[in-house]
Amino acid sequence: MKKNLLNAALLLALFFPLASFSAEKYEFNDSHIHLTNYIQTGPSLKYFLNRMNKNGVKRSAICGLPLQLEWNVDMDGDKQPSYYLDTNAKLYYYSAVDSIIAREYLALPRKDQKRFDPMICGFNPADANSVNHIKQIISMYPGVFSGIGEFSIYKENVSGKIAGNSATLSSPALGRLFKLAAEIGLVVTIHCDIDSPNEGKTAQRMPRYFTAMYKLLKKYPDTTVIWAHTGLGRNVYPTSHHFECLKMILDNCPNVMFDISWDEVAEKVTRDEQTINKWAQLLKDYPDRFLFGTDSVAPSSNKYSREIHMYDKLWNVLPKNVQVQVKFQNYERVFNQANLRVRAWEQKHLANLSPKINWPHQNDDSSLKKQVYSEKIKFAKPDSSENKVSL
Ligand SMILES: [Zn+2]
Repeated sequence: MKKNLLNAALLLALFFPLASFSAEKYEFNDSHIHLTNYIQTGPSLKYFLNRMNKNGVKRSAICGLPLQLEWNVDMDGDKQPSYYLDTNAKLYYYSAVDSIIAREYLALPRKDQKRFDPMICGFNPADANSVNHIKQIISMYPGVFSGIGEFSIYKENVSGKIAGNSATLSSPALGRLFKLAAEIGLVVTIHCDIDSPNEGKTAQRMPRYFTAMYKLLKKYPDTTVIWAHTGLGRNVYPTSHHFECLKMILDNCPNVMFDISWDEVAEKVTRDEQTINKWAQLLKDYPDRFLFGTDSVAPSSNKYSREIHMYDKLWNVLPKNVQVQVKFQNYERVFNQANLRVRAWEQKHLANLSPKINWPHQNDDSSLKKQVYSEKIKFAKPDSSENKVSL
């Protein structure tokens, strides 16, 4: 009898290795959320934590928005525009956003701080001064930040509205940012449209910006990168080569992950059964390389509840273990490792600063620390011979 029970338990463990997970109260980690909007207002982190709890979200990578929308009264009158599509006014980089995020985080009790991974975003990626800004913010708020982003290089409807020089993928300033992120251990969340906008749904060619992006990602193999939305956007549609491009990166750039986020992109990914199945197959083939995020901006109660479920049609056709990796586990692997590396860098370089650094801020457990340091992250499939894209 005992043996039968043991066999049954073994069978259960074999076929339902994630059974214990379903008993957990958290289903998601959110790899992409903007606490502030384009006029730098939004909910408090305390309020947002409440939303996370209501929606089964354990941890969030918390960004502000790097850009502020100009309020030109001559043009827009007394009604302050708050979204870039609602006005012809310019956008400009707003560095104070990093202090807003840091102060929100530091105002939380320590147990709640562990639920967040704050990101530095208030810099111009076309400006070589950005590396100094990042170091300055880290020295002002040691023990707080885990990454940089989301910042944009090419973004439909936004790039052209930014005052000053446009960012480009070949800019030396961007290279310096990637290099610094590798040195400190910061995760980089980058938005870069993979193709020019408004090309329609059926472009039969390589996406225009893919080659430049691929070269950048290859050039900095020690930088952990999350390419937001796989390069898609509101009016940036996947070309016939989209999956081929993603696979080329997945196979050749083990440092790169993608996020599945933004309601505008969710519509494209889940638009019909055939498309859903194609994306599901990609996630099944590379389950450790995608992270789920909402890309919610200044999340309100109803909006966030909606956004957290915008990929349900995709989850519905994925096996449970792939869902758990994409919705939850990949986040913990990437951000736990980043936190350990960034805290270690701070200890080494900012040791004499006050206040003293809490090290590490996410995990006090030294056994976990060892585990993360020793973890061999299984990323790429090394054989690139099947790639058909030539650069
Ligand atoms: Zn975003």
